[in-house]
Amino acid sequence: MPITLHDCPYCGGQTKKVHDYRITKLKHVKIAERMTILFYRKRRYVCGCGKRFAEKNPIVDRFQRYSKDWNQMAQLRAVKEKTFKETAEQYGTSVSTIIRRFDRIIPQALHKKQSIPPVIAIDEFKGNARDEKFQFIIADGETKDPIDILPKMIFNSWR
Ligand SMILES: [Zn+2]
Repeated sequence: MPITLHDCPYCGGQTKKVHDYRITKLKHVKIAERMTILFYRKRRYVCGCGKRFAEKNPIVDRFQRYSKDWNQMAQLRAVKEKTFKETAEQYGTSVSTIIRRFDRIIPQALHKKQSIPPVIAIDEFKGNARDEKFQFIIADGETKDPIDILPKMIFNSWR
C-alpha cells in the first residue's frame, strides 16, 4: 500500500506519518485449489495528537483473521453449497464460522428482493448444526440468490 494522507479517527486531523508495520496473517481464498495464507504488512500511522491507527486497506476489515475476499466467498458458498459442514471442510474453517458468515448475508439478501422471480428453487439444509432453526431455503432458480429461509414446520404446513 502506498503511503497516503489519512484522516485521524480520533481528532479529525490528517497525517501521513508512519508509526510502524505489523505482519498480519490472514486466511485467504484458495489459489489453484490450495489453501492460501496472506501475510499482510499492515502499516500504522501516528497523528499529531499522539494517537495511532491502522491504514485503510482493501484486504481485511478490523479484527478479522480472514481476508475480505475470503469472507465474501464464504458468504456465497454458505448459501450455495449443500451443507455448512461441506463448505467448512472445503474452505478449511469451522462449521460455526460458516454459519456466522451465512447469518451475515441472509438478512441483507432478504431485504433486497421486491418481486417474485419466474423460477423458484426450494432446497433443504442437511446436516445443519443448529437444531433445525433453518430448514429450507427458497431461492431464485436462475440467479441462486436466496429469497427466504423457512423452518421445517412452516414448510410442512403448505403441503
Ligand atoms: Zn489525531
